[in-house]
Amino acid sequence: MKCVLCNINQADKTNTHYLTDSIIRSCLNQDGSNEREKGYYFDISSNKTFTDFNFQRKTTLSALEAGLGRVPSEEEIEKAKKVPFSVDHFFCTECEFIFSEIENKFSSDFLSQFREKDLTGISSLSFDNSTVFRQFFLIQIWRTAVCTNFEFKISNASSEMIRQLILTPDEAKLKRFPLSITYLTTRGGLMEYTKNIVGYTNETTPNVIFMNDFIIQFYEPDSKISLKELFGINSADYKTFINLCENKFIVKIISNDLRIKIVAAFIQERKVMPLLSRFRELFEELFRKKYNIDPSPQTTNMYIQGLVNCGDLPLIERLSIKRVTDYTNEFFKNYLQP
Ligand SMILES: [Zn+2]
Repeated sequence: MKCVLCNINQADKTNTHYLTDSIIRSCLNQDGSNEREKGYYFDISSNKTFTDFNFQRKTTLSALEAGLGRVPSEEEIEKAKKVPFSVDHFFCTECEFIFSEIENKFSSDFLSQFREKDLTGISSLSFDNSTVFRQFFLIQIWRTAVCTNFEFKISNASSEMIRQLILTPDEAKLKRFPLSITYLTTRGGLMEYTKNIVGYTNETTPNVIFMNDFIIQFYEPDSKISLKELFGINSADYKTFINLCENKFIVKIISNDLRIKIVAAFIQERKVMPLLSRFRELFEELFRKKYNIDPSPQTTNMYIQGLVNCGDLPLIERLSIKRVTDYTNEFFKNYLQP
């Protein structure tokens, strides 16, 4: 396969991150150790269920099987082993170097202004020279689109234009893409980053990527721009942050308190509600398999209630594979006792 950036060389690179590793890493680590693959995280593209979660490499097959109520498919096992948000054989070594250059420049010129500064009371930051800044966020958009085979949808015209702008930056052309970047102030140490979200939605207008403490909203150049609240990320002044042909690039800064509310609202609406109906089905399936009869509605409700109401555990951890597996095993054990 040919590299999808240059369209010339063989795509020889494996394990290419399509969301920049240095940005998402602290979110994907449960103990904030900055080593990869320790954390628990969601694939947030909508309509995905428990069975489509990404999970840690170390998740044992038997735990997975018990959690799913069936043997995992080959595809699920393969997915479980993969480094999250990365792909093989999409890009060549030369193009990987182009990405790295943009990513490194972003890190050295901009990242510390967000992560290492006290942003208390600050509602926006602006930057004069936005070429690298725009390129950096557009490569996240473009790579996510091409590496998910356009499950993350952008138009072919935009995709082709961005591809060229990655190879040959042109500030005037880069500015034609309406791009809104929100920074979620994350305070309280490295553990707090693991409560953020990494992933993308498959909506358009705008396309949204959650990238730990950065949120990218991308519009096609000719799309109708309107206020979408997006869990409290956008408000009445949203147009200030669209950055269409502006000289200065303006980034919205969200306080730590609001970040916590936004993440909770997101998880409740996008993960918990759809998941509960899926868990209901999985439970009934498992019950029938064990006892050859349907569970009563009361039994199913009891199961779901116990799943949701669980002391102090953060919402996201209540529905992790481990917790659901343990809870389900416990539920059946107790169910059998008189
Ligand atoms: Zn290439």
